[in-house]
Amino acid sequence: MVLHVDNGMEVQEKHKIDFDFREKLDVIADGFRHNYCYQCGACVADCPSHNYSESFNPRLIMLKTLLGFEDELVQPDSEIWNCTNCYTCSERCPQDVRPVDIIIALKNLCVKTGKAPDSIQKISQAVMESGITTKATSVTERRRQELGLNPMKTYPVEDLKKIVEGE
Ligand code: SF4
Ligand code: SF4
Repeated sequence: MVLHVDNGMEVQEKHKIDFDFREKLDVIADGFRHNYCYQCGACVADCPSHNYSESFNPRLIMLKTLLGFEDELVQPDSEIWNCTNCYTCSERCPQDVRPVDIIIALKNLCVKTGKAPDSIQKISQAVMESGITTKATSVTERRRQELGLNPMKTYPVEDLKKIVEGE
């Protein structure tokens, strides 16, 4: 199902609101804020991703979130991945929706359900296994030695897992 935008918003097909999706987001940090969106569009004006491509529209993402378009939003090729996390929309929003936080919540839901792009899924896995985004190899360590750098630090991965899993 596709929401078509032309001269303002137009919903082309009947859509039954998926309240279960709202509830899923409500329990993710800051995910509940989408409920405050009244579709004013202030978040769109200075959005750099929107300025780059009009097909990216944070107001429309908030609307799809409210209506429960999970199949469109929670996907490896979802438009949410074009958000730069710049937080401009959060500064502009009069309702304190913090659209970027909703988009991050959607991204987290993608990772949790294995629906993030491969590259993101690999980065998330590396962070959970080593605490950093790129695993150090023996070649990395050798190069660091040659450059006179200290060995790579290790990180308390078990503590990190507890934070991520909300324990
Ligand atoms: S955080 Fe994302 S949605 Fe918000 S203004 Fe920046 S690019 Fe646009
Ligand atoms: S600025 Fe806030 S209230 Fe207005 S459309 Fe964007 S998220 Fe919704």
